[in-house]
Amino acid sequence: MAMGGGGGGKEGGGGGMAAQAGRLGVAASVAINLAGIALYLRRRYFGDGGKGEEELAVAPSSGKPPVTKDSVINLDHGDPTMYGAFWRGGAGERATIVIPGWQTMSYFSDVGSLCWFLEPGFERQVRRLHRLVGNAVADGYHVLVGNGSTQLFQAALYALSPPGAAAPTSVVSPAPYYSSYPAVTDYLKSALYRWAGDANMFDADGENYIELVCSPNNPDGGIREPVLKSGAGVAVHDLAYYWPQYTPITEAAAHDIMLFTVSKCTGHAGTRLGWALVKDRAVAQRMSKFIELNTIGVSKDSQLRAAKILKTISDGYDRAPAPAATAGDDSGRLFHFARRQMVARWGALRAAVAASGIFTLPDEVPGNCTFTKETVAAYPPFAWLRCEKEGVNDLEGYLRERKILTRGGGKFGADGRVVRISMLDTDEAFAIFIDRLAAMK
Ligand code: PMP
Repeated sequence: MAMGGGGGGKEGGGGGMAAQAGRLGVAASVAINLAGIALYLRRRYFGDGGKGEEELAVAPSSGKPPVTKDSVINLDHGDPTMYGAFWRGGAGERATIVIPGWQTMSYFSDVGSLCWFLEPGFERQVRRLHRLVGNAVADGYHVLVGNGSTQLFQAALYALSPPGAAAPTSVVSPAPYYSSYPAVTDYLKSALYRWAGDANMFDADGENYIELVCSPNNPDGGIREPVLKSGAGVAVHDLAYYWPQYTPITEAAAHDIMLFTVSKCTGHAGTRLGWALVKDRAVAQRMSKFIELNTIGVSKDSQLRAAKILKTISDGYDRAPAPAATAGDDSGRLFHFARRQMVARWGALRAAVAASGIFTLPDEVPGNCTFTKETVAAYPPFAWLRCEKEGVNDLEGYLRERKILTRGGGKFGADGRVVRISMLDTDEAFAIFIDRLAAMK
């Protein structure tokens, strides 16, 4: 094995030199062999072909594939990738966290707390952000964390359904409603609750029910209040889109259960983190119990990351406390950046709809925003696009033939001449969509 350059005993230049060369040769060959063994072990245990450790540790997935002008454009899901440009700037660096191998190992975050898996740092940043934006009252509320607000929604159904009731509690929402509500409510066929459809068609008399109030509403952007007023019912407010980039903030919401998510607020859908503000202690305890039974808590790593992301947003406004006065320079101010994007996108969409002539959109509704101190229109995260052309009764199919994937009205309790289109995808995908739409006659 010891076959290094000097190890073969090359003579010349004196015995001392030869001996030294020999020693160096042995050292070099030992080093080469150790490197070889390390490579062999790495291949054997990690199968990585010898890539660097850094690369192994952090190489991220890249999300949806890039698009070209002939691609199928998928605007079915509300995948909020358009905020990437903000986070790729300086804010992205400020939001970086490093988690050493020994951290976040315990199941527990705060054993004494009602929500024992809630990271105190995340809770602090949630409260701070609501104080900054003024979109919800957090003082006097319990904060719960969930694997996306999707899990918190299910926790709320569990917490609000009386366990011993003769029949499952009815879950309703006025059409058009978020298409996941029926699917998520019924997929386990729970004996506690069941989907009962459009709240406007529901006879609430003497019935237990839960009304889901989504405001601004997914899919049509409408500002909503509960439509059912009977004493036997309770409301869950899904405020995923009650942020300044989508709608004027007109008041600090103070409902019994309010659900939020980083997905739509900051664009970090992949972090899978939502939070709930819950007034009643017993309800909060039952929701927390659901998450304990369902997933034994929520990733602390995600909570630390989300805490840093929320902190970066609030810090951005602390650095520039008068956003309206300096409008135009929105570096570091997420809501201003995001609003500018939404304004541009809605402008492009309305122009494309006008150029095409076969579609209509809901009207723009302006309001006074207490956060930006400006009168602004709403710029919903989804376009609720209706086709007026004779014979197009399945708009989802019509657009699919033109390589645009959307979600048809039927999934929201509406008719087939309307579709929901995500306004939050990448700039590239959105631009291609706009070109195609404008050309449809
Ligand atoms: N509520 C509404 C109204 C939504 O549109 C969405 C996401 N599409 C969610 C909740 C779920 O959000 P999360 O990613 O936090 O599960």
